[in-house]
Amino acid sequence: MERTTCCIIGGGPAGMVLGLLLARSGVRVTVLEKHGDFLRDFRGDTVHPTTLQLMDDLGLAERFAELPQRRVDIVQLPVGRDGDFLTIGDFRLLPIKYPYIALVPQWDLLDLLADEAKQESDFSLRMQTEVTELIREGGRVNGVRYRDADGGTGELRADITIACDGRDSLARRLPELRLRDFPTPMDVRWFRVPRKEDDPAGLIGLVRDRTFTALIDRGDYYQTASIIEKDSDAAGRSRPIEEFNQRLRHLVPWFDDGRELVDTWEDVKLLHVTLDRLNKWHVPGLLCIGDAAHAMSPVGGIGINLAVQDAVAAARHLAAPLREGRLRRRHVAAIQRRRWPTTLLIQGLQKVLHRNAVEPGLRGEIDFGDRTRLPRPIRMITRLPLLRMFPPYILAYGALRERPPREAVRG
Ligand SMILES: Cc1cc2nc3c(=O)[nH]c(=O)nc-3n(C[C@H](O)[C@H](O)[C@H](O)COP(=O)(O)OP(=O)(O)OC[C@H]3O[C@@H](n4cnc5c(N)ncnc54)[C@H](O)[C@@H]3O)c2cc1C
Repeated sequence: MERTTCCIIGGGPAGMVLGLLLARSGVRVTVLEKHGDFLRDFRGDTVHPTTLQLMDDLGLAERFAELPQRRVDIVQLPVGRDGDFLTIGDFRLLPIKYPYIALVPQWDLLDLLADEAKQESDFSLRMQTEVTELIREGGRVNGVRYRDADGGTGELRADITIACDGRDSLARRLPELRLRDFPTPMDVRWFRVPRKEDDPAGLIGLVRDRTFTALIDRGDYYQTASIIEKDSDAAGRSRPIEEFNQRLRHLVPWFDDGRELVDTWEDVKLLHVTLDRLNKWHVPGLLCIGDAAHAMSPVGGIGINLAVQDAVAAARHLAAPLREGRLRRRHVAAIQRRRWPTTLLIQGLQKVLHRNAVEPGLRGEIDFGDRTRLPRPIRMITRLPLLRMFPPYILAYGALRERPPREAVRG
């Protein structure tokens, strides 16, 4: 029978950060990841100031800086017919060491974390190993059953199992965790469009003709998100891709210069937007964090940051009790209590934005082309520029700031 102290299901941002922090703190930890590598279709790649500070605390700032990345320190909206840009968020106003979002391919970040964790003798990462079932005995989760790359099966028993396996987590099948789902008005299409050197830089949001378009400047291309009405993707896909490109040229005026846009519908990925959370993140022997505990709307690009901050909080509460063999239920319950206010705050803000910006925008009731009809909060930001620091602050820190366990800090 195989045994570890902490079994982590899933090697995404939450699982890899937690694995690294616990291993550095002297806890035996095994991460099981079903894929063979970290390369996937586009996944979120916004690394917020708090995660950058964490990299610094862990002595990884230099290695992180070597990853291919773009930095975004302002969020802009084009307003008025003359194509002016209005800054609605400014990270540079925050008194912090890393006042920007780094746009880094998620696989590069995960590779870095995995590389670093492998230096620790207490760490083990098993790729191509899919957890198929939780081992439940007498009302307690005692580990997992898994299937490896060769189709072989096994059992891994652990003092605690932590579900970091994303929004389709196995743990969500446990009725006592009580999943609560909130309706969302939109889905998101993700695709790349070539960017020219003198095109607008940074993070740009456009609202025009019942469509929101967000452009993330990635150097020679824009990672582009197009927010569409819920469940309306299939109808669009039945039309030729050239119709999609035509509309894109209309929505983003500087794309109408003869450049190639999107080749085929295969290059346009769909994200089914969900906003949900578990009412309870733990049962005896099991804890859920990251998307497994709360799937976020893409508004604010905050999913990775929250998953990482959950992992930092979990490591801080669990490292000593696990290392010293004195883990109690209260240590696990404290993690949900700590992260609950931030989850509620961010999901609450996302719901407000869905209701007051996304829904009216999709109905064509907001038109940033008309300066006289800008929504009130945006007019206030125009008058009081210091307000531009609040959206980045909330996105970066949520309700509470998390710190890693002391043993994991380097340098
Ligand atoms: C298309 C898209 C775009 C996004 N854009 C952004 C963005 O710009 N910014 C942002 O912050 N967030 C974004 N997000 C959300 C963000 O990616 C997630 O919030 C974040 O990755 C959550 O991290 P996690 O570690 O909790 O879960 P995940 O990243 O989902 O990781 C879960 C891991 O568990 C593994 N796994 C799942 N099941 C099993 C199993 N049974 N056994 C073993 N392994 C398993 C998966 O392979 C995966 O590696 C986006 C999400 C999507 C889908």
